[in-house]
Amino acid sequence: MNVIIVAVGSELLTPFHQDTDSLYLTLRLNDLGYDVSEKIIVGDEFENLKRAFQKAREEARMVFVTGGLGPTDDDRTREAVSSVLNRPLEFREEILRTIEERFLRRGKTMPAANRKQAEVIRGAEVLPNPAGTAPGLWIEEEGKIIVLLPGPPPELQSIFETQVRPRLAGRERAFLVRRVLKTSGLTESEVESLIEGLYPRDPALRLTILASPGQIELHVSAFSVVSAAEAERRADALTFELGRCLGPAVFSADGSDLETVVGRLLSGRKETVAVAESCTGGLVSRRLTRIPGSSTYFREGFVTYANQAKIDRLGVPSRTIESFGAVSPETAAAMAEGVRHVADADYGLAVTGIAGPSGGTAEKPVGLVFCAVAGLEATRVERSLFLGDRTRVQDQSSQKVLDMLRRFLEEKSSR
Ligand code: ATP
Repeated sequence: MNVIIVAVGSELLTPFHQDTDSLYLTLRLNDLGYDVSEKIIVGDEFENLKRAFQKAREEARMVFVTGGLGPTDDDRTREAVSSVLNRPLEFREEILRTIEERFLRRGKTMPAANRKQAEVIRGAEVLPNPAGTAPGLWIEEEGKIIVLLPGPPPELQSIFETQVRPRLAGRERAFLVRRVLKTSGLTESEVESLIEGLYPRDPALRLTILASPGQIELHVSAFSVVSAAEAERRADALTFELGRCLGPAVFSADGSDLETVVGRLLSGRKETVAVAESCTGGLVSRRLTRIPGSSTYFREGFVTYANQAKIDRLGVPSRTIESFGAVSPETAAAMAEGVRHVADADYGLAVTGIAGPSGGTAEKPVGLVFCAVAGLEATRVERSLFLGDRTRVQDQSSQKVLDMLRRFLEEKSSR
């Protein structure tokens, strides 16, 4: 059963307020096996509101309308829905009493404007609102369900949990499961070409690719009207095939981020790491230490920007910097080996590069970064040329060096 959410509120069309109600509803509805096919955000203007609701009602089997149930003149959701459904608004004395009592409990008299919150669309069931004044409304017609909920998140959520969920739970439903594969080290187009042919034709199976700096995520969702187990089987079969095509680029199949995976690998092997950063300004250390329990494997982090700091703190030979420059594979390797030694860690990580926007040359442009991982047996260095502003270069660099360590550890563990 497809669902359309209509979020009402002119403030949601400004840069200052986000429609978080629809995120909450989508999460909860997906859990119950309902698929949200569209969201519409519409301002308070009456004709626009009617048009948005009309479209949702034509195209969906279930429509959620959020917001615009308040007492002020711009709260016109009830009237708009009543007009589209061609059902009049009816005044309910008992709702008015509840609202008045709510004000009295706080020692206040109900303003006259709140009277309109006691108006109910003919034939609607009233969904009591324990957290506020405007009740929700539940309407069924021609096999479709229309639910009106107040906009403030605590009110919407409490009505959903106490009134909407129990009504939906016993109905015809589907089962929806999701899987997420996270990859590193591949571009979006490389991922696309590796998984070519795996895009599902079956409408009950969906694949979405999401790209962020240094990370491509593949989101699989599978529906079944039969059972959760069937949906899981479908999702797992596609996820397995995707994993096979993408190989070692996949670092997580359970939603974990890269630093968590690296932390798990280090803990499992009872090994430690130390980090030397130029260019990323402590981001790699920050990401590693964000994980609870990281003090068991994270020894030390250095932010060494000046050449002298690389020499003094990490023991990088001055002739290495003089001969090859601070941004070079030789300096990256010396930083990683130096920090490993100084911190007495099993692995040393290093980043050196030009994050920009200034400091680039024709030979060493902005975005040029060398990442290194030093272990007992070997030191690996990789050169990258990242695009984007300073923050993006830093994000991609931190991702790159963590991924190098992850691959290093996985290779060792599989030997
Ligand atoms: P009220 O009775 O409080 O007026 P309402 O149903 O009329 O409730 P609105 O007036 O549209 O709701 O919005 C009240 C507040 O609820 C807004 O200021 C906003 O903070 C929050 N809100 C409304 N819609 C959303 C939404 N879609 N996502 C998140 N917050 C929302």
